[in-house]
Amino acid sequence: METVILLAEDEKKLRDMTAQHLKQEGYKVALAADGLEAIHYWQELQPDLLVLDLMLPGLSGWEVLKKIRQKHDTPVIVLTARADEVDKLLGLELGADDYITKPFSPRELSARIKAVLRRSRPQEPSALISFHDLRLDPERMEVFIGDVLLKLTASEFKILMLLAGNPGQVFSRLYILERVFGDMYEGYERTIDTHISNIRHKMEAADNGQVSIKTVYGIGYKLTAGE
Ligand code: CA
Repeated sequence: METVILLAEDEKKLRDMTAQHLKQEGYKVALAADGLEAIHYWQELQPDLLVLDLMLPGLSGWEVLKKIRQKHDTPVIVLTARADEVDKLLGLELGADDYITKPFSPRELSARIKAVLRRSRPQEPSALISFHDLRLDPERMEVFIGDVLLKLTASEFKILMLLAGNPGQVFSRLYILERVFGDMYEGYERTIDTHISNIRHKMEAADNGQVSIKTVYGIGYKLTAGE
């Protein structure tokens, strides 16, 4: 199956060079020279991944990312020339999957693309998720710690499934909120804290748990094993 990458970059030389390298790597590459083209091709081609320059004419990369995230979780790797944009990226939680600062080598970009694609390929919905003594069965919506069945609400289950599907990965509150409640969410990022706290209590009550949800200060949550 062909992997389609949409590359949105207004500097022609960089765009052509990057595209050539990605084609050599076996990807099918589509090109956009500004933000509006990026949105257009994203809708038309439904690429597997978007490489997005932040400083684009027309519609900025920021706006492109925001629009895309309102509708879909297409993996996005952001290209940026400025360190302060990276701070902003992390702060605003717009949901880029990774970023690279310019100048970068094509090889570095390929490595990031591979990693992001590997992470984002959806799990089979029926696949069991397990991490140490934690097991989730998405079909039955059941969670076990060892032999103990946890009674989670649907929201709690979805949050735990997200965390357990990617152990060690930190998820921001906003990301969890959007991922779990989609476009339907109302309320605040802090509601996630309440859900997490409930999940924690239920996990702790199951005894002997090796797995716990850690707070990553200023960012969000991750699932870890041991202390
Ligand atoms: Ca640019």
